[in-house]
Amino acid sequence: MTTLIRGGTVVNADRAFRADVLCVGDKIAAVGENLEAPAGATIVDAGGQYVMPGGIDPHTHMQLPFMGTVTADDFFTGTAAGLAGGTTTIIDFVIPDPKQSLLEAFHTWRGWAEKSAGDYTFHVAVTWWDKSVHDEMGVLVREHGVNSFKHFMAYKNAIMADDETLVKSFRRSLELGAIPTVHAENGELVYQLQQELLAKGIRGAEAHPLSRPPEVEAEAANRAIAIANVLGTPVYIVHVSCAESLEAITRARAKGQRVYGEALAGHLVIDDSVYRHPDPDFARGHVMSPPFRSRHHQQALWQGLQGGNLHTTATDHCTFCAEQKAAGKDDFTKIPNGCGGVEERMAVIWDAGVNSGLLTPSEFVRVTSTNAAQIFNMYPRKGLIAAGADADIVVWDPNGSRTISTQTQFAKGGFNVFDGRTVRGIPTHTVAAGKLVFARGELRAERGAGRYVERPAFTATVA
Ligand SMILES: [Zn+2]
Repeated sequence: MTTLIRGGTVVNADRAFRADVLCVGDKIAAVGENLEAPAGATIVDAGGQYVMPGGIDPHTHMQLPFMGTVTADDFFTGTAAGLAGGTTTIIDFVIPDPKQSLLEAFHTWRGWAEKSAGDYTFHVAVTWWDKSVHDEMGVLVREHGVNSFKHFMAYKNAIMADDETLVKSFRRSLELGAIPTVHAENGELVYQLQQELLAKGIRGAEAHPLSRPPEVEAEAANRAIAIANVLGTPVYIVHVSCAESLEAITRARAKGQRVYGEALAGHLVIDDSVYRHPDPDFARGHVMSPPFRSRHHQQALWQGLQGGNLHTTATDHCTFCAEQKAAGKDDFTKIPNGCGGVEERMAVIWDAGVNSGLLTPSEFVRVTSTNAAQIFNMYPRKGLIAAGADADIVVWDPNGSRTISTQTQFAKGGFNVFDGRTVRGIPTHTVAAGKLVFARGELRAERGAGRYVERPAFTATVA
């Protein structure tokens, strides 16, 4: 399959320039001016548009069994929705149960993900510790292309990693040349605050943010950063939602510590008033952790992206329908946590970030694709438009606009935290692995076309 994207402005993280892009098979074959169209090539007219590396969402949960149910989007519908929004690669999470073999869980997730329409790869969660976990981390890194491990500091009595697990897993990650990542919330504090709120009879979604104030996140972020500092490991903090966590990252980076931060599209534009909405389905629909925050935190997150202390943008795409969320109608601690966004992330961040002048188009590429590719070792296969890279490309019309709606979204679940938001700057075409999979509103996602992306270890100290 040959595709020529003609007449656009290529935007990479380092520069933007006028060029055509020729894709042959699943790779970019040439980038340059006035490229000849080979016979039979599909031509995409990118005049007046930007041609950017396909988005990488480094934080999604497709088909996740969680809190007694399973997310509405599976690996096919979720990755297909991503393609419609210009995201061509996701990094999802293998989450073993405590005491479950990491390898067994990894193979289970690999099986579920075979239906993916877009490329995918996995962080593997370390939810418990013993010698077998230590050994299986090595097998995952050396034989299965895993180079990042996730640690939940929240979800007590479920998947929470205690300090012993954090310390041992961080150290093992360093030995293997993998990067530890953390969901930073103090799970003990969350648990106690939840019990207090329930005892006071505060049981609706409005209690959710009260049980997880910014300090709860900041404590865990500071602790993870301190542990990483003592052990000399890098650390990546997922879904940084508040000024206090960002301050911890900024302080550590100023001292030379290798700390990375991720912001979610939702946290960048939505505030915590959603939890006080009169419609309980609407309020519950926004329950995710960390919660949406009061407005000044959004400004801090944008400053983090601008200042280079936050590096990636993600969604934590984890969709549940209203009936699933209603499991917590009388007890907010039973509301399945999660919101969508894989389809909207790029447009929401362009609209709020680039149109406002906070980010340049190259900075947009950096925080939606290139940095994730570099931090998780997929670069330059991903995150760059250059000959030899994967032909994962989004053609972006900066003047096109649309109003996001649950009625027209491709993602499942029937709910959208961005519903009703009008964005200017939208994808017109998405090319994934060289195939035109989205063209002017028409989604041509193919079940099973997505590929598992192996991510080699960084330089290891132990073979
Ligand atoms: Zn998550």
